[in-house]
Amino acid sequence: MSDASEKKDAAQSQYAGRGHNLKAIVLDRDGVINELMREGYVMDWADFRFRPGSLDAIARIHKAGLLTLIITNQSCIGRGMTTRENIDSIHQRMMGQIEEHGGKIDKIYMCPHAPDDGCDCRKPEIANFKRAMADFDMGPDDFIYIGDYKTDREAAERTGCGFEMVDERQSLADVVDRYL
Ligand SMILES: [Mg+2]
Ligand SMILES: [Zn+2]
Repeated sequence: MSDASEKKDAAQSQYAGRGHNLKAIVLDRDGVINELMREGYVMDWADFRFRPGSLDAIARIHKAGLLTLIITNQSCIGRGMTTRENIDSIHQRMMGQIEEHGGKIDKIYMCPHAPDDGCDCRKPEIANFKRAMADFDMGPDDFIYIGDYKTDREAAERTGCGFEMVDERQSLADVVDRYL
């Protein structure tokens, strides 16, 4: 049995009867984990700033035995503004910080395409949600998606999973408090 499926089973039993029964928390990146860039994209580690409380919230998800996944659009790659290698290296550093704080990102699903590419993974399209469900043997009731934009909500609705909006009324930490 893989680590992921053991973890999933543990999460299943731990949360059975608590009303949520989640196996995973799936996160958007920009505006949820890290601050939005006022203009443009995070293409340099120096511009990556964790939002207040997000590192602790991610640690809490992991410590509760749930999977932590990320589904993110990074069209700066498809637009030719940066490379996949550069974004991957930013993600490595992000995950390093997260692990130092006791969290763990189990997998990142990234759409690198530009809007005109017509791909099936740029939110609100849901190919990355389908991949995550296949990879971790989940149905739409097994996770919630947490985003900060209307296309995040739309993707969650098309997927059939729960959705929580990070905005001026609630942070990632607030959502995690409520669910875990
Ligand atoms: Mg976002
Ligand atoms: Zn895509």
